[in-house]
Amino acid sequence: MSADGTVHAATLLAQAGGYVDPATGALVPPLVASSTFERRSGSGLVYLRDDNPVAAIAEDLLATLEGGSKALLFSSGMAAATAVFEALPAGAGVLAPEVMYWNLRRWLRDQHASGRLRVGFVDMSDVGALAAALDRLATALVWIETPANPLWTITDIAAAVRLAHAAGARVAVDSTAATPLATRPLSLGADLVVHSASKYLNGHSDLVAGGVVTACADEVFDRLRALRHDRGAVLGPFEAWLLLRGMRTLALRFERACASAMTIARHLAGDPRVVAVLYPGLADHPGHRVAACQMQGRFGGMLSIRVRGGGPAAAAVAAATRIFKQATSLGGVESLIEHRKPVEGPDSPVPDDLLRLSVGIEDPADLLADLDAALASAEAAGLVG
Ligand code: PLP
Repeated sequence: MSADGTVHAATLLAQAGGYVDPATGALVPPLVASSTFERRSGSGLVYLRDDNPVAAIAEDLLATLEGGSKALLFSSGMAAATAVFEALPAGAGVLAPEVMYWNLRRWLRDQHASGRLRVGFVDMSDVGALAAALDRLATALVWIETPANPLWTITDIAAAVRLAHAAGARVAVDSTAATPLATRPLSLGADLVVHSASKYLNGHSDLVAGGVVTACADEVFDRLRALRHDRGAVLGPFEAWLLLRGMRTLALRFERACASAMTIARHLAGDPRVVAVLYPGLADHPGHRVAACQMQGRFGGMLSIRVRGGGPAAAAVAAATRIFKQATSLGGVESLIEHRKPVEGPDSPVPDDLLRLSVGIEDPADLLADLDAALASAEAAGLVG
């Protein structure tokens, strides 16, 4: 605890922000499933689409972790992210990364095609490219995702914010892979932080949820809250309760995932069956220097590998793992592996030989042995080479 009484993130998380139920003294909030609240009760709560007492505890915790003013939980990460864009006026200019969560990139392309937004895609790992794009397009919002799924490229948030703000644009950061434990984008000048809370924040692959944190309780926050109200993209009470429970262990889960991802990245970096290991923790990663500073010495639990032998070899490795489950999503306690190109489609910048690994909290020795055995099996089948 510091002199002013503030505690570290791990302490905040473990205690759900210091929650004690005022009525009973319970350390775990009751699951309030009511959709409506008696007006005479004096609680100020009216209807579940706006008033979710358990979600409010998780929102306060997320806002505190991010150093923000307010947080809003949504029914999924996509609901949270699309609300940020829908809060922009029609025809607004948006710059988004070439490498980003593929489904949101697809949705942004659709927005551009329909004329609702003017969207430009830019290499966000290159500050010069962002500067040039800001000169070309009158931009209301710069969207950053760092590390960016699934190539794990790094954007220098502070540098991007300086350029964007000078051009009159706001900056939103999808910080799903970094978590508030590694990166606090608002402290680097960003205006909004977005999370797929389905991933690390919850961490147990048993719900979908999203969150937006705003630097201040301004008109953008009001618009986002109104959009959530009107669209009804709210988190249910049970999901909010589960999310809060999951968040309590984020610090331990994330620490273990980061350590094991680094072990795996170093191990596979020397493997002749692997063409490249994409992990910002490796010194030869192009974003390593920025990540080392921006992510405060943690590089996350996500990495990708490119398998010698192309798509068929990558598919064979994914099919051969036993401990790494072949499934989509990331940030859960169990390790996952996914051959991304078939998922993302032909217009994705992801190479066909790429496997995305979400490193969980299992014993790292088992994870290494599983990957080695899967690579050996693809090699024995004559696919690696
Ligand atoms: N942002 C990132 C980086 C993601 O990986 C995902 C989902 O995979 C999303 C946003 C969307 O989140 P959700 O699946 O909760 O809608």
